[in-house]
Amino acid sequence: MINNIKKLAKSLSLSELRSGMKITAKELVNTKITVQYPEEKTPISPRFRGLHALRRYPNGEERCIACKLCEAVCPANAITIESEVRDDGTRRTTQYDIDLFKCIFCGFCEEACPVDAIVETQIFEYAFESRDGSIMTKDRLLKVGDDNEKVIGKAKSEDSKYR
Ligand code: SF4
Ligand code: SF4
Repeated sequence: MINNIKKLAKSLSLSELRSGMKITAKELVNTKITVQYPEEKTPISPRFRGLHALRRYPNGEERCIACKLCEAVCPANAITIESEVRDDGTRRTTQYDIDLFKCIFCGFCEEACPVDAIVETQIFEYAFESRDGSIMTKDRLLKVGDDNEKVIGKAKSEDSKYR
């Protein structure tokens, strides 16, 4: 009985409506946080896992030594690697494909790589117009790496203290 009276009093006093109006009034004067994407963009974490890239050393040599650890660790079987031993005795990939339709962007390949060759960049704005477009071939991966080496290196060094 007492509870019912309390509920009735609360309803008649419009307390819930007044609480709601109070929040609305507060938000009217608060600074707006809507971001006008794509003209404006929010900061991206150095460990953001976007489009993949293969990196080179400063002398232009490919970092990847075809150890296939990334292929083995990939939970989505998205990586396909073929390799050969070169005349100088070093091993390099002849094929390195990542199927982005299979990839779940877990970052395990990057974690497993002993030479920081395969990385996930901060690039998230990309699209494909054909089924083939989802296959990131070695040439495409190296191009992403070459074009973004400065940003990749900066993100790696910013994140290194947390690893
Ligand atoms: S991010 Fe994960 S799923 Fe994608 S290629 Fe690397 S290991 Fe495989
Ligand atoms: S990208 Fe790294 S982990 Fe993958 S095969 Fe090359 S060296 Fe090994």
